Amino acid sequence: MIDSHKRRGVMLVFCAPSGAGKTTITRQLLEKDDHISLSVSATTRAARPGEEEGVHYFFKSVDGFKHMIADDELLEWAEVFGNYYGTPRQPVEEALSAGRDVLFDIDWQGARQLREKGGDDVVSVFILPPSSAELERRLRDRGQDADDVIMKRMAKAGAEISHWEEFDYVLVNDDLEQCLASVEHIIGAERVKRERQMELNAFVKKLLTD
Ligand code: 5GP
Repeated sequence: MIDSHKRRGVMLVFCAPSGAGKTTITRQLLEKDDHISLSVSATTRAARPGEEEGVHYFFKSVDGFKHMIADDELLEWAEVFGNYYGTPRQPVEEALSAGRDVLFDIDWQGARQLREKGGDDVVSVFILPPSSAELERRLRDRGQDADDVIMKRMAKAGAEISHWEEFDYVLVNDDLEQCLASVEHIIGAERVKRERQMELNAFVKKLLTD
């Protein structure tokens, strides 16, 4: 039997404009699949109600964040909507070498940097909303925001979507269950890619000689 843990972990990069349903999909995926860990980012933005240190983000001062950059503690970082966000390197490297897959909920700039550094370990997925009307409806549903705030969110969503062609897989989230099933199929297929299964050489050799 091949030990399924003896494979390289996959770096699963999920990007989407806000309102596409990424948070729900990632949460459900993490609940269903205990081989996947979520990469917890560092950020300089203030915690929102209900967000916990070390669970949703590591909340940093601008100085603290700049120290992390200077000390090469971040795998990637970017400025998003006027705040800094970045991926702490150490937990990712530990998880990957233990054969665990790591899920990154980051923006297109971070995705691009991870692709440059992580090479074949990176599998990137872009999630699109089913229509601009539905995207607007979802963004409006989030709160009692004024029209100009909604319009700003729509413009930001458009900017994120303009990078969709950089991604390996693109899903349209018009049905949550179907979208989640597609994500699971992608992960399942990526896990059994030949180059990820480090034990295969020895296994096949034994198959042929036994
Ligand atoms: P929010 O402030 O709403 O939690 O996140 C704002 C944006 O920052 C989202 O698009 C999110 O994916 C992105 N983001 C969160 N963490 C990181 C990170 O570590 N690196 C990068 N590049 N983007 C991130």
